[in-house]
Amino acid sequence: MRLVRAGQFLLLLSLAACGQAAGSGVTPAPSATASTLSSGQTPLSSASAAAPSASAATPDPPPLPPYVPPSERPSAKVVPPKGIRAVEWKKIFDTYGALYDMDDWLNDIHRKYPSITRIFTLGKTHQGRNVQAILISKNPQDAAKRPAMLLNGAHHGDEPLSAEIVKDAIVRLVEGAESNPAVQRYLSELSIWCVPLVNPDGFSQFMTDFGAGRKNGRETRKPNSPVPLSAKGVDLNRNYPFRWGAHREAGSSKVPERRSYRGPSPASEPEAQGMIALSDREHFVGSISYHIGTVALLAPYTIDGVLQPKPNEAWLIAEYIAGKLPKINKRAVAVRKNLYTVDGTDQDYHRFAHGTLALLLESAARSWDSIARRDQTIEQIRPSWAALFDRYIDGPSVEGHVVNESGEPVSAKVDVAEVKTFAGEQWHSRCSDGFFGRYLPNFGKVTVRVSTPGSETPIETSADVTPEKGRAVVKIVVPGAPRSTCAPSAP
Ligand SMILES: [Zn+2]
Repeated sequence: MRLVRAGQFLLLLSLAACGQAAGSGVTPAPSATASTLSSGQTPLSSASAAAPSASAATPDPPPLPPYVPPSERPSAKVVPPKGIRAVEWKKIFDTYGALYDMDDWLNDIHRKYPSITRIFTLGKTHQGRNVQAILISKNPQDAAKRPAMLLNGAHHGDEPLSAEIVKDAIVRLVEGAESNPAVQRYLSELSIWCVPLVNPDGFSQFMTDFGAGRKNGRETRKPNSPVPLSAKGVDLNRNYPFRWGAHREAGSSKVPERRSYRGPSPASEPEAQGMIALSDREHFVGSISYHIGTVALLAPYTIDGVLQPKPNEAWLIAEYIAGKLPKINKRAVAVRKNLYTVDGTDQDYHRFAHGTLALLLESAARSWDSIARRDQTIEQIRPSWAALFDRYIDGPSVEGHVVNESGEPVSAKVDVAEVKTFAGEQWHSRCSDGFFGRYLPNFGKVTVRVSTPGSETPIETSADVTPEKGRAVVKIVVPGAPRSTCAPSAP
């Protein structure tokens, strides 16, 4: 459909279910690692992401582009679409129009808080927009040595409220850095990455073709196809390589015109490639993908047919976080495995690839076309990321570094004996510095087993995780292990 009458607008906003979940089994390797990143203004791309790991320093972003005054930003140049009543357009534009200016908004944040932020471009979309990330951390040049967390929004461009939720987190974190002890603790202990608008092309389509924009807007229609513009594009949250397309037409679609089109191949889309490269470099300990469509907290693995770790700490911690949230529109936030069958989602990719406590929070029934309701939802969802961070810092959790006898970082397979896995997971320490970090289901003894290629038996270390200590910190030395080399993948 193209434009709709004003009265249909709210209904269309609510159409989007988001999707979640991923599945069982190993995926074909994505063509999507650092080497295939499009380079935007900065790079997370091969060179910086994969610099030989002599140091774990966060790569330097390039200089910011010049300041752009509001009158020259993209939002000032938007032409209201025809066929929409002016009053309806104004409501939606007042509520979400600022998202057009995401690049400038993030640059403004960095200009105001240069000592605790860095801006990175993860990739370029098909329509030439940047997928921007902001790193927020005390002494960001050292952030690569800390446990990393990820907050992202708007994989689905027709869920702009999810982007606003992440923008709010960014504002709270930078503004709290000086005065809020809780925020100061997050910034000292963690490296916090936020990608508020994963799908800027979809968002742009949403704003001018109400009801569209879930997908990324790439022209995927057949020549002379009669289907409308809104049918084009790939569903980014079906494009991730873990169990991509595993459930055939039930979990996503191979048909380009369908709303859950998974793309021509795993990680075919630049937006997903950028997120994957970031994940593969940072090995996120925890993450939340924000979506709009209903109210639920989805814990990995959400795909059917993949055996969960035992005990399933992700579920326990999701319940802990759900318990920190108020009722949303009179609905308590429930932890769910999958709302419906899906595959190829971001959450299950992070989980399978790196053991990330990767959650998806369906934050509201729809992206309200009202500033007041938008802000109410943001406030209700705000405790989610604080709970994710607190639960890791306060424990029970375990972290450490794997090094060789020279103290050089080692990329090794790291297992926590108390949490058994069954899906073929190979969770490794981070290439740049040998770091690993895991949430644990319970306090008590934790046993970490480290295996390197060629080693006969794993090296094992135990520690007691107590409420007083919260996090157990271990150091594991693997004599003779080669220093990890974070070379870029072959093109
Ligand atoms: Zn969604």
